[in-house]
Amino acid sequence: LLPIEVTTTAVDSLPAVGTKLMMNVGNPELAFAQSRIPNQGVGLARMEFIINRQIGIHPRALLELTSQPAGVRAEIEQGIAAYASPREFFVQRLVEGIGTIATAFADHPVIIRLSDFKSNEYAHLLGGKAYEPDEENPMIGFRGASRYASESFAEAFALECEALRYLRDEMGLVNIRIMVPFVRRVAEIEAVLEIMASHGLRRGVNGLQIVMMCEIPSNALNADAFLDHVDGFSIGSNDLTQLTLGVDRDSALVASAFDERDPAVLRLVELAITACRARGKYVGICGQGPSDHPDFADWLVSLGIESMSLNPDTVVETWRRLASSAAA
Ligand code: PEP
Ligand code: MG
Repeated sequence: LLPIEVTTTAVDSLPAVGTKLMMNVGNPELAFAQSRIPNQGVGLARMEFIINRQIGIHPRALLELTSQPAGVRAEIEQGIAAYASPREFFVQRLVEGIGTIATAFADHPVIIRLSDFKSNEYAHLLGGKAYEPDEENPMIGFRGASRYASESFAEAFALECEALRYLRDEMGLVNIRIMVPFVRRVAEIEAVLEIMASHGLRRGVNGLQIVMMCEIPSNALNADAFLDHVDGFSIGSNDLTQLTLGVDRDSALVASAFDERDPAVLRLVELAITACRARGKYVGICGQGPSDHPDFADWLVSLGIESMSLNPDTVVETWRRLASSAAA
């Protein structure tokens, strides 16, 4: 399942480097195996990956089960038969998925990101088509924080909050931190935090840290105003590069123009790191950039980034390289 070299490298055989080396983990079934790779926690667990695997049904279709077309309803009923209610099914399956990852990495922080499906991705979940807008540009559409703050998604968002509250407050998995993705404007993070608090998730209570992705140029350009409301940033270099350079990250035609190391992107990344450090707030990166480009990883370390969350298969190699350049 994992390369031999990775499974036999003990965490303490690698010297500490100034930057914490975390991992992106999204599949609960692999979490225990991946936790054997040297690591200092999970910097990004995408909840949409967990929902895809554990649930596969659109949350609104579940919540409005009785008004689904007969075929969809029958399929959903079959899937949830072992649970007391559709709501119970969603929350418990999410608790199992997130709980597995948080338990596998129990000695370290695990940053769970609230779901960041785009509307076209949500439409693929069972029963999803009826609830999702047909957007021209889903990548910059109804996703992330704007979704949680919207009336139409309020009940579905409550389920995500309930799973996270239960895991931290009732199961004691207080290594779980929460991350809010795709926050365009300061008013959005304020609204989302208020909604989360109404569901029992409040910064500082039971040690809860809430951070946000820094992945829209507005986040870096106006960093202080966002940081007034959160415990820090995790830099999403995938979206930040896409939105800074105007390159669709999914289009092969323009892929050659996608580069996290473009000077414009670097300027924004530097703004974000500097702003967080000046205020003693958490700053990490969880985009693909440092996994793909060793020179980018080195540059981030030189700016004093607190953590890098890497693809599991690049952690050991990156760790060794950073350790040897620190020793040189
Ligand atoms: C990012 O944008 O860099 C990121 C980590 O989020 P995602 O790839 O899920 O959009
Ligand atoms: Mg992103």
